[in-house]
Amino acid sequence: MSGQNPVFIPGPTNIPQRLFRAMNVQTIDHRAPDFVEVFAPVLEDLKKVFKTKTGQVIIFPSSGTGGWEATITNVLSPGDTVLVARYGMFSHRWIDLCQRHNINVEVIECAWGTGAPAELFAERLLADKNHQIKAVLVTHNETATGVLSDVAAVRKAMDGAQHHAMLFVDCVSSLASMDFRMDEWGVDLAVSGSQKGFMLPAGMAIVAASQKAMEHSKAATCPRCFFDFGDMIGANANGGLPYTPPLQLIFGLRESLNMLEEEGLENVFARHFRLAQGVREAVSAWGLQLCAKEPGLYSDSVSAIYVPEGYNSDQLTNHAYDVYGVSFGIGLGEMAGKAFRIGHLGALSDVMVLSGLATIEMAMKDLDYQIELGAGVAAAQDYYRKTTGVALSKAA
Ligand SMILES: *Cc1c(COP(=O)(O)O)cnc(C)c1O
Repeated sequence: MSGQNPVFIPGPTNIPQRLFRAMNVQTIDHRAPDFVEVFAPVLEDLKKVFKTKTGQVIIFPSSGTGGWEATITNVLSPGDTVLVARYGMFSHRWIDLCQRHNINVEVIECAWGTGAPAELFAERLLADKNHQIKAVLVTHNETATGVLSDVAAVRKAMDGAQHHAMLFVDCVSSLASMDFRMDEWGVDLAVSGSQKGFMLPAGMAIVAASQKAMEHSKAATCPRCFFDFGDMIGANANGGLPYTPPLQLIFGLRESLNMLEEEGLENVFARHFRLAQGVREAVSAWGLQLCAKEPGLYSDSVSAIYVPEGYNSDQLTNHAYDVYGVSFGIGLGEMAGKAFRIGHLGALSDVMVLSGLATIEMAMKDLDYQIELGAGVAAAQDYYRKTTGVALSKAA
């Protein structure tokens, strides 16, 4: 295989050449001034991506799951209660992680394909007269189903109930590809990672904490060491980490932030919308259904697509990989065998997306799906032709 084909999994995403070059650096002493000079502005510039002025950005060498663990252990104590809705594999895994830390999780079960249920949260918070609930946890973009939740609506529900719980948001597959507003939405802990919108390899959890969360961290008794906010912030103040930093990744993050800044965050979001909309036009031309139940829930970073009754989505994604050398996301959890996913986030252009649509069409045709070869591609082409120039991609 040439290694030239883009991946269409929703993370890790395609790494632009520019970031490869930025990471291609020899070891330097992480205590030397040249590292210190690179690192401090990275933390500052990340605030712009989270859209926070008052929050504290904290990064850990780990995947996004480590970011989840950091949020839970730094601000909660065993026995604390959190309120979460389960509507996909990622919200499910965050719940599991809380339970293993002996957090009491009140779960609202929701149909997969729906998002965070602001009204049900409001009901539960109103009923919680003694304010037992310490935090509400929301998966902003449920990567398993391609659903984007309305975090502002959750904040409104919390304020409406006059409840003082904190708001934790998993924005691993939304930050730097769809709009995220930490301060405006009153998010107390936001968790992201290096391998999705930031276009880098996995290896860095990127967390932002509000002043309220930092205050809570003083009394929180969950055991923590590697992920301790206090140790990290203390070391950051001296220009480093409490342990060996992943130097090359941090150099990559520096350049990734430069790329996002050059394109402009709002243009990055517009590009993701346009790419996603082309994919949705193709899905509709194929006569297939998205898992996301209504347009207001559509994610611009990933689409989960049901295959027709009688077909197996794993067979489709395996075929696309084995025969054409292109990776698509498989169906996770409840979606296993029933849906495949097209990741359309990160360093991606309309031309790249068209290649993915053409490939999955060939695979569907090979497996006797009732589609017309070219139908999805043509629908996307039409849309891209009409909208070209709206947000010309620089990221690819
Ligand atoms: C990718 C992802 C994560 C983090 O997963 P890791 O594999 O630990 O990096 C968490 N939440 C969501 C919604 C994700 O898409």
